[in-house]
Amino acid sequence: MTQETSDENFSRGMVVVAHADDAEFGCSGTVARLCAEGWEIVYVMCTDGSKGSSDREMTQKELSRIRHEEQVNAGKVLGLKDVVFLDYEDSLLQPTLELRKDIAREIRRYKPDVVITMYPMRNLDGDSFGIGHPDHMAAGEATLQAVFPTARDHMTFPDLLEDGFEPHKVAEVWIMGHPNPDLWMDVTDHMDTSVRALMEHKTQMNGRDEKWAHERMREWRRGRAVGKGMQYAEAFKKIPFRR
Ligand SMILES: [Zn+2]
Repeated sequence: MTQETSDENFSRGMVVVAHADDAEFGCSGTVARLCAEGWEIVYVMCTDGSKGSSDREMTQKELSRIRHEEQVNAGKVLGLKDVVFLDYEDSLLQPTLELRKDIAREIRRYKPDVVITMYPMRNLDGDSFGIGHPDHMAAGEATLQAVFPTARDHMTFPDLLEDGFEPHKVAEVWIMGHPNPDLWMDVTDHMDTSVRALMEHKTQMNGRDEKWAHERMREWRRGRAVGKGMQYAEAFKKIPFRR
């Protein structure tokens, strides 16, 4: 493990995002790298992906089925251990107690050292994220709530414990899309895998081809790497927890 990651004993990660393709755009270079280094990484998808189409002939059920399949295929490219679908309705995600509990259950099940999730706030000063998708903020917020304190405390949601889900303390959270990152992951050797995973989201590419993906993904990651002595990087805000 290189200097930018915190602990060479870490071996399990979880990525919690709102939609199919969020993780491929946001952190797939990092995920590809960690999988190559032997980490077990699990994705937790909060929504069912049933809304993002302009095709009037497409049903929500069929769209959701396709988005699940594409995300599983992207996971195979990256080498994920598992992809969990919580199947909340797309575009209507809220940081509810129910969502928090569902994420906490997966944290207790898979016991990640590191949880990667989305920036939970609306950043109106950002350069390329527009106003931000409400599902992204909800997923980020619910995940932070699940990490601390819900996954940790056995008396919160005692039915989780009754179902055999022992408390788990996550060591670090890495936030994607944070305006003030302090963790840079060198993903130079994993760009091709990252792009191949993104391209598995065929129905979200909207005519954009692999050449587009190679160029854009490299352009964004080159921007993140400026001044860091890396060619391509993904950047996160790292939030460590005392064990
Ligand atoms: Zn999204």
